[in-house]
Amino acid sequence: MNIEEGKVVTFHYTLTTEAGEEIDSSIGKDPMSYLHGAGNIVPGLERQLTGKAGGDQLQAKVSPDEGYGDRQGDPEPVPRDQFPPDLELKPGMMFRAETDTGEPVALWIAKTEDTTVWVDQNHPLSGVHLNFDVEVVSVRDATDEEKSHGHPHGPGGHHHH
Ligand code: ZN
Repeated sequence: MNIEEGKVVTFHYTLTTEAGEEIDSSIGKDPMSYLHGAGNIVPGLERQLTGKAGGDQLQAKVSPDEGYGDRQGDPEPVPRDQFPPDLELKPGMMFRAETDTGEPVALWIAKTEDTTVWVDQNHPLSGVHLNFDVEVVSVRDATDEEKSHGHPHGPGGHHHH
């Protein structure tokens, strides 16, 4: 069975930067699952997985325009006391906030100082050329429920219900 829209794909991956620095890996952990065509993973990786089958290995290079986008704007300072006092803030941590008009946005903590937290609207991997070493573990048909939710259920997928 080949990867196309409406398939649930389970795969192992190691993600490195162009310079060979390892960012993340599923090796030694559970493989990751996603619903193909639903935008669960970065577009460049999804595109390069199209047509592959269980057991296939590939090296997918993904540029920022098919990855986490180009960087826009710089981190901005926010007073530390606007965050819950008992929350441990770490660089790279993502949180959700609202714009002045109530739109939900994802923000990342760039760095923390005593009384100031620098908040970045850019994903930490924006502007980065990514290299995925991928091994496709399995490919199966998505259920109707998975298709309507836009993500896979079961091992490696969402566990929210
Ligand atoms: Zn669901």
